[in-house]
Amino acid sequence: MTCKEAGDCIEKYNASCIFCKIVNKELSSTIVYDDQRIIAFGDVNPASKGHTLVIPKDHYVSIDEMPPDILGKTIEAAKKVTEMLRADDHTIVAFNLLNCSGAASGQSVGHFHIHVIPRRNGDSGEVVPKIEALLRPK
Ligand code: 5GP
Ligand code: ZN
Repeated sequence: MTCKEAGDCIEKYNASCIFCKIVNKELSSTIVYDDQRIIAFGDVNPASKGHTLVIPKDHYVSIDEMPPDILGKTIEAAKKVTEMLRADDHTIVAFNLLNCSGAASGQSVGHFHIHVIPRRNGDSGEVVPKIEALLRPK
């Protein structure tokens, strides 16, 4: 277990995982939400402006490994992120929430995450191909 700050204990840390490094502040990211169990940060290669990744601080690879209570907290945080994004940007009219669990589904980072992808009127031509790319096995 690593506990860098009070209330910021990581019980399952994987030293070869980039998202664990982001949680542990070894890698920088644009953090938009942070609580005891969950963190959310901007995707480095956004499908649309505001594309955010919501993750448990503990390292679980996919939906199969996610304890139901942590899954619930991750989804609750994703909802909060949609509210924050919408409050900051009134051009956002909708969201895609996406999880890829398993390499065959397109998952490229083996730390469970929910993509929160803001959508705007008329953005399909630009954004949908990027979302489709997320679904392709890498
Ligand atoms: P997946 O393909 O696993 O569903 O999604 C992984 C996401 O993580 C991709 O959208 C990718 O752009 C993002 N990503 C990969 N490496 C980094 C990183 O070092 N920092 C951030 N902020 N996002 C990353
Ligand atoms: Zn991890």
